[in-house]
Amino acid sequence: MKKIYYFLACMLLLATSCATKPEAKDPAQDKVWAWMSGKLSMEDEKWDHYFSKAAQSGIDAIILECHSGYPEILDSTTFVDSAAIKIIKKAIPFAQKYGIELHAWMWTSNRCEMTLRKAHPDWYQVNAKGESCLDIKLYNREHYRWLCPTRPEVIEYLKDRAAELASIDGLAGVHLDFIRYPDVILPYGLHKSRGVVQDKVYPQWDFCYCDSCRAAFKKLYGTDPMDLQDPTANAQWMQYRWDALAHLASEVCAEIKAHGKIASAAVFASPEESKKLVRQDWANFKNIDIVFPMIYHKFYDWGDEMVSTATREGVEALKEAGSPAYLCSGMFVGHVPSDRILEFMDSTRNAGSKGFCFFSLEGIDRAKDGQYWDSLAKAVKIYKGLDKEDCDK
Ligand SMILES: [Zn+2]
Repeated sequence: MKKIYYFLACMLLLATSCATKPEAKDPAQDKVWAWMSGKLSMEDEKWDHYFSKAAQSGIDAIILECHSGYPEILDSTTFVDSAAIKIIKKAIPFAQKYGIELHAWMWTSNRCEMTLRKAHPDWYQVNAKGESCLDIKLYNREHYRWLCPTRPEVIEYLKDRAAELASIDGLAGVHLDFIRYPDVILPYGLHKSRGVVQDKVYPQWDFCYCDSCRAAFKKLYGTDPMDLQDPTANAQWMQYRWDALAHLASEVCAEIKAHGKIASAAVFASPEESKKLVRQDWANFKNIDIVFPMIYHKFYDWGDEMVSTATREGVEALKEAGSPAYLCSGMFVGHVPSDRILEFMDSTRNAGSKGFCFFSLEGIDRAKDGQYWDSLAKAVKIYKGLDKEDCDK
C-alpha cells in the first residue's frame, strides 16, 4: 500500500512540474541585435533583403544608422536632420513587415554637418596645442569633427536632433554613437595601420581645451588646464572631462525617454579603456536604458578571452555606479568566425550580457564563406533555447 501512495505522489509531482508554466522571461534577455547603415539611396529590394534576412536569422532588433559623418540632406536654416528622419520613416514599414524592433542610430558629439560647422565653429573641441578639430584633419579623417560637451548650446542642439527622431511613431528607441571625445589614444591594434605612435598622451590628440572648458575648470579649481605639465596625471582635470561628457549623454538620453523611447549608446569596449582612450565614463551615463560596448577585440590586440572579461567588467561597473541600465555586448562580425558564433554569444551571456549585437548586417552579408546567414540562424536558435522541445510537446 505504501508503495502505491509513493507511486501516486511521484506521479502527481511529475504532473505538477510539467504543467507549471515557466516564469515569464525578461524580454531583453537573449535578445539579438544588429547594427545596420541606412541610406536614402538604397532601393526597396535592398531594404527588404536586410530586414527579411535579419528576421529569418532570429535577429530581434535593428539599430539603423540614419545620421553619419556625411549627411545626405540638411536644412540649412533650422538644422533639422531631414535625411535622418526620411531614412527612419523609410525603414519602419520594413521593420513592421518582418516584426523587427527598430532603433535610430545617430552620431552624437562627432557632428560634421557643414551648416553647423559654419554657423558655430566655436562649439567644436580644441586640443592642448590650442588647435580646433575644425582646422586640422585629425587622424587624416574628414569626419573627425567633435562638439564640446561643456557648452549648453551643444547639449540643446543634440537634444533637438534626438527629439526629432524620438518623436517618430513606430520607432522603439534612439541609439547614440560617437558619444565621446576624439581618441586621445587609438585602440592599440590600429596604431600601425594609422601610422601613429601613442605610447603616452600627446597634446595634438588631447581635447577639449576650448575657452568654455578652460574657463569652467579654472572657476572650479583655480587652474587653467592649458598650464598643466601632465594633464593626464591631474585627477580633477580627468574627472572634469568624464563628467562633462556623462552630463551631455544623460541630458540627451533624458530627452529620448521624455518621448517614450528607449535610450541606448554604443560605447568603447571596457569601462577603464573607454575612460583612458576616449574620456568616456559610460557606467556613469544617467537616464540610459542599454549600453552596447563595442567589444571589437582584435582592434585592441586582445585575445578571444577578453570578450567575456570586458563584458564582465562592464556589468560590474554599471552595478558599482548604481545604474539601472543593462549591458548588451557588441561584436565585430569579422572577428567572429561563422563556426564560432554560438561560442561568443554564450561567453558574453555567461559574463552578464543580456543579449548580443552584431556589427553589422552588411558585414554578415559580405562574409567571405557565404554561410554566415545560415550559421547565424542555427546559432541564434540554440542561444535562445528554441532548439529544445519543451514539456508540453
Ligand atoms: Zn570644450
